[in-house]
Amino acid sequence: MFAGHFAASVAARGMAPKLPFWACVGASQLIDIGWGVLVQLGVEKVRIDPALPGSPLDLAYMPWTHSLVMAALWSLAAGLVATRLWGKEQPRAGWWIGAVVFSHWLADLVVHRPDLQLWPGNPLRLGLGLWNLPEVAMLVEIGLLGLAVAWWVAVRVLARQSARPALGWFLAILVLTLVGELPGDPPSPSGMGLLALTGYVAAMLVAWLVDRADRRRWTP
Ligand SMILES: [Zn+2]
Repeated sequence: MFAGHFAASVAARGMAPKLPFWACVGASQLIDIGWGVLVQLGVEKVRIDPALPGSPLDLAYMPWTHSLVMAALWSLAAGLVATRLWGKEQPRAGWWIGAVVFSHWLADLVVHRPDLQLWPGNPLRLGLGLWNLPEVAMLVEIGLLGLAVAWWVAVRVLARQSARPALGWFLAILVLTLVGELPGDPPSPSGMGLLALTGYVAAMLVAWLVDRADRRRWTP
């Protein structure tokens, strides 16, 4: 899942407009950013199987980023950092960012084939496997993000503010998603980690530009 995770960032930014948007976007993918880094370091393992439907990822071993207990700890840590950084200007900044980080695990639970552990070392693997129905999975992802963006745009229009930055960011995410879906041989495991990291950094960069455009036009 790439695009769908960002729905939570958009919702958080809509509800807590004084949070930097790039931070909301980064928070929704923090667990995957950690995954990309740990895959590069060889700590977490992924196999590529082009025969798999939806996503070629066979996420063999990722206890430190994608187990339930670790996801909760990552959320807690991000929440504490957010409280320190933005708690003064944005009430409940830590709660919002923590919730967005944790939403990643819940969304992964829906799309992943069973590969999510409860805690490192636990033999149980969870995942509802929506990736096995690739078209439905893509529809749900883009649909979720589209709904969140539509709501955000409506909030802005009702407040007589420009919705252009929000729409520009949505367009950029759609383009990044399409680029990621381009046919071709899937890269090696470490290439896959790098591709994911590049996508997240690009999404955060565009979000930062949205923040800049907003500050010029509009004070929340
Ligand atoms: Zn993930």
